[in-house]
This record gives sequence, C-alpha cells and structure tokens, in this order.
Amino acid sequence: MSRPIQALIDLSALEHNLSVVRRHAPHSRVMAVIKADAYGHGLLRAAEALRRADGFAMLEMDAAVRLREAGYRQTILLLEGFFGIEELAWIEQYHLSTVIHHREQLAMLSAHRPGVRLHVFLKLNTGMNRLGFTLEQFPAALEALKASPAVGQITLMTHFACADESSGNENVNAQLQRFNLVAAGRNLPLSLANSAAILRYPEAHADWVRPGIMLYGASPFSDRTADELDLYPAMTVSSRIIAVQTLNPGDGVGYGHIFRADRPMRVGIVAGGYADGYPRHAPAGTPILVDGRRARIIGRISMDMLHIDLSGVENAGVGSPVTLWGKGMPVDEVARAAGTVSYELLCALAPRMRIAT
Ligand SMILES: *Cc1c(COP(=O)(O)O)cnc(C)c1O
Repeated sequence: MSRPIQALIDLSALEHNLSVVRRHAPHSRVMAVIKADAYGHGLLRAAEALRRADGFAMLEMDAAVRLREAGYRQTILLLEGFFGIEELAWIEQYHLSTVIHHREQLAMLSAHRPGVRLHVFLKLNTGMNRLGFTLEQFPAALEALKASPAVGQITLMTHFACADESSGNENVNAQLQRFNLVAAGRNLPLSLANSAAILRYPEAHADWVRPGIMLYGASPFSDRTADELDLYPAMTVSSRIIAVQTLNPGDGVGYGHIFRADRPMRVGIVAGGYADGYPRHAPAGTPILVDGRRARIIGRISMDMLHIDLSGVENAGVGSPVTLWGKGMPVDEVARAAGTVSYELLCALAPRMRIAT
C-alpha cells in the first residue's frame, strides 16, 4: 500500500458542470478555460471530460500544443497571446487562436510573414486595468488587425474585475457599457463572461463565454455555495489517519506548539501537508471530514502531515478516511477558512499528489 493521500478527479462532475454552463448561456459558445493544468485537474483528463466544449482557453503554449496533438479540433485560445515573434510560427502550425492585448503584439504580428490567417481575440481594457487596449487605442488596433494579412476572424473580448462581488453590479455595468459602446456596429463576435458573469450577468453572455472555476465545481461567489449553484466538485482530496496521539492538558501538538490542549484529547495525524498542496496557513478550526463527519484541524500544518481534533469523532482511529476537500467538504469552505479562494487550492495541488479517476 502506498501513502494514502490522493486526488480523485470525477469526470462526470466536469461534464455535469459544463451542462450547467450551457443551461445558463444556451445561446453562447463555450470556451472551457483549462489554464494551470485545468486548475490542477490535469489538462488532458479535464479536456476529455469537457470535449463537448466549443473551445478551450489557456495561457501555456506547451499545453495548447499538447491539446492540439491529442486531436482536439476546437478553437484553442492563448489568453495572454504570444510573448515573442517566434511563437507565431507555433500558433500557425497548431492552428491556435491568440489574444492580442498590447501594441508590442501588433508590431510582432506585422513583422511576421504569415502562412495562414489567425483567429484573433482583440482584448479591450474596459476597467480591469490588467490587459487590453484602452478605448482610445482600440480603433487603431482594430484597423491594424483588419489590415493585417496574418489575421482572419476577429473577436472582441474583455474581462470583468468585479463580477464575483455581491456589490459589483455598478462596476460590471460600467465595463459592459464601455465594451458595448466600442463594439456597437462592428458586427464582430464578442466574449466577456467568466464563471461569475455567466451565473450573474446574462446580458454579458454574448457569443463566447469563458467558464473556469465553475467547471471544476467551485463557486466564484463568497455568498453562494457551489451546491446552491448545482455545481458538483470535480476534485476530492482524501487521505487517512496514520497515527493517533493522546494529549494531556497543557500538551502542545506539532511545530511551534501553536496549539495546546486545555483538556485530555485525542489527535489524529493525517498523511497530508503543504507539500501535497494543503495550505500551510490554514488556521485551527479549518474544517475537514473524518469518517464522513466534520472535524477541525489544529496545530501548524507540516510539510507532510496535519493534525485533527478527534473530539466528537470518537470512533476514528488509525486508518480512518479523511477528506481534505471535495465531495462532502466544499473546497470553497476550506479556502475561506485558510484566507484564500478555491482557485488557489485547486491549482496548487502538488506534483507528488497521486491522481485517480
Ligand atoms: C481565468 C480566466 C477565465 C476564467 O475565470 P473563472 O473565474 O475561473 O471562470 C476567463 N477569462 C479569462 C481571460 C481568464 O484569464
């Protein structure tokens, strides 16, 4: 038997979550975002479950090439575009689509001797202030693309800063308005919505939606659970208790003794730590499932282990199954307790993690 920690990827959950996207945005094409190794779920594994998507999006050239070589014929979009002119040859060879968000990229495009016409997503900065042309730069950028022999289809794109915030309405509407203003009368396909906007802003669905986190069964919102959104967790990280300690009042547990018992208590030691991708900063009280029952973490997370207060799960002992997150223990809840978001926990899964399907 090997070390008991593993991440179980539920392919049917991914398929189900894609159908939830379709239900919300029935008139849009779906670009499944599989950046960061499909948010830690494994690129080809996730793509297979999401094969009915109309396109895939990521930022990593090697991932895009692997996906094309695996036989996927859909649109494959590079969300940050290319970083050097030499990548344009790859983009052509593998029929990739590319975001153009900066004048440097326009310059590289015009210096390139094109072999085919590319599908380009022209990115507008409508208020996120991360990537994209400003509204003032936009007309010239669009003209440059239209005049370029390297460019075929042009899709206009933007990204929301606050679609996941319960108070984000005004901000989203302002971005939407700016986008619609420049898009008006151009007769070009449009793409705006991430998961949060798919779920909360149907007016932003347009031609292509770009779901990420919801495909993996986590909620983009802090005020709505994945369960309420009918999303199924695609990743369940489980392990087992490998030792039990009995503490007397005053005894500390783990590094730094940051937790001390104030009464006699049993502590379960779990094979799972920050070198597996569990957040080291998860504080005492972070929830975890033991034998299917909720318990809490205590003490400092070690590289390979963490500690559980077994009060209330008296029958638990060595060998008891533990769920760190996934089915029965929402990753959103663990993330919130650890002061982060599900995105970070999912994509920080460590390379040494055993993956099962
Ligand atoms: C990551 C990303 C998405 C997906 O966002 P989620 O919040 O995971 O749905 C969509 N669009 C762009 C440009 C992204 O970088």
